[in-house]
Amino acid sequence: MASLVTESSLTKVSASARDFLKKPKQLLIDGCWVSAASGKTFNVFDPATSDTIAQVAEGDAEDINLAVASSRRAFSGPWSQMTPSERGKIIWKLGDLVLENLDELAELESLDNGKPLAVAKIADVPLTADLFHYMAGWATKLEGNTIPISVPYAPGAKFFAYTRRDPIGVVGQIIPWNFPLLMAAWKIGPALTTGNTIILKPAEQTPLSALRLGELALEAGLPPGVLNVVTGYGETAGSALASHDDVDKIAFTGSTEVGKIIVRAAAGNLKKVTLELGGKSPTVVFKDVADIDTAVQGAANAIFFNHGQCCAAGSRLLVEKDIFDEVTQGVAEIANKIKLGAGVDGATEMGPLVSEEQRDRVSGFIKDGLEAGATALAGGNSLDEKGYFVPPTVFTNTRPEMKIVREEIFGPVVVAEPFDDLEGVMKVANSTDFGLASSIWTRDISKAHRAAEIMRAGTVWINCHNVFDAAMPFGGYKQSGWGREMGHEALELYTETKAVCVAL
Ligand code: ADP
Repeated sequence: MASLVTESSLTKVSASARDFLKKPKQLLIDGCWVSAASGKTFNVFDPATSDTIAQVAEGDAEDINLAVASSRRAFSGPWSQMTPSERGKIIWKLGDLVLENLDELAELESLDNGKPLAVAKIADVPLTADLFHYMAGWATKLEGNTIPISVPYAPGAKFFAYTRRDPIGVVGQIIPWNFPLLMAAWKIGPALTTGNTIILKPAEQTPLSALRLGELALEAGLPPGVLNVVTGYGETAGSALASHDDVDKIAFTGSTEVGKIIVRAAAGNLKKVTLELGGKSPTVVFKDVADIDTAVQGAANAIFFNHGQCCAAGSRLLVEKDIFDEVTQGVAEIANKIKLGAGVDGATEMGPLVSEEQRDRVSGFIKDGLEAGATALAGGNSLDEKGYFVPPTVFTNTRPEMKIVREEIFGPVVVAEPFDDLEGVMKVANSTDFGLASSIWTRDISKAHRAAEIMRAGTVWINCHNVFDAAMPFGGYKQSGWGREMGHEALELYTETKAVCVAL
């Protein structure tokens, strides 16, 4: 078979993206671009070819110390004196700059992560801009309450009580590689609008778009130290940030396993913690669905969007018995037709996975599924490519105890299982340690709402999947996390409520 990728991805991107890649990739600390204190750098790979495309400063504990000190100074500097309106305008401008640089940001994202360029252009980058625009509006709307109080032990005394919403302080944010730019925005947007200062640690696999975002943040007018960006490894830079005694909050998106490490690291100074972790989200298709073809396409998109590298991926397909074969065959047909290739190649529908490690991990799950007796209706094979490609895979004949059914795979692999009725399927849907997302496909509106009530997950999509919006909160029940991203719920998690009580 001919190779999926025959030329370097760099030949397919614009001159501005190539120019950005050529520049030294330094850390953003205190408004300046600086090398790591150790002088070390690490390589960033093109996942379609495994070629090195950039070298990036390898920050560690020493750089984190400098960044935290800078954010601490910035927290009581000019940033704290700005009016909410001034703060909001800077965040709005950042959203505008993201749109102005849409093509270049999309190219960097596609090169670095491997996702199709078209997806980065219509989803990742516009959603990033929209998040900043949405959050910018909140800067002027962070109101407290006035509270009528009674104080029974002080008869006759009069008081005036109210609440303020103060920023938490210096915030560490650690993000993953699946939506590098968008995850940075989900974290930075609410933290800035509420007046905090930030140290952002991008994933070591995909640091490029966060560095470009750092440049845009300075251009938008963020004062030095309000946003520091420290690239480096999780075990060094990330760990130093999570355990730092002068960091007031840590916000993390990534695996449940590392989430638990973050919680332990944060215990030293009891910093606030929010976590957006893994999932094993069910896509539940009832036989009374309005249109089977739409449901089949929806179920396929639920798992194959972003190569299954979505925490909300519909990785468990539960289908009512009478239509099980039709739906699973349909999803398998779609899987077989998906065109694999380099993200920056215009014809590509699914790119490579992000890294060699992820390819090997996902391939390990597939091998395990086959050995345990599951049937691969599509995929199931490995590809002999230089890049990190895995074929979209659909498993049937699974059993609940199989690893592929229980654990998050984070790749284009779905396990399908038939069900008999609403009660039974909801038990199966909820029989997981995770609770991030889900979708229900039916035209019976009562059944849809009953299922939505029973589902133990932070998001229930009805007749759709993977619909995200800056205004809609996202986060997990159970081991899928603590707290919510986006919506006004996110603002609660970046503010302290202060009660003020005045004797009149
Ligand atoms: P994945 O396993 O999917 O690569 P991770 O949860 O390991 O995802 O990574 C998500 C983010 O967490 C990355 O920015 C990574 O560098 C960081 N990270 C990994 N290990 C640690 C750690 N021990 N402490 C802090 N951050 C970490």
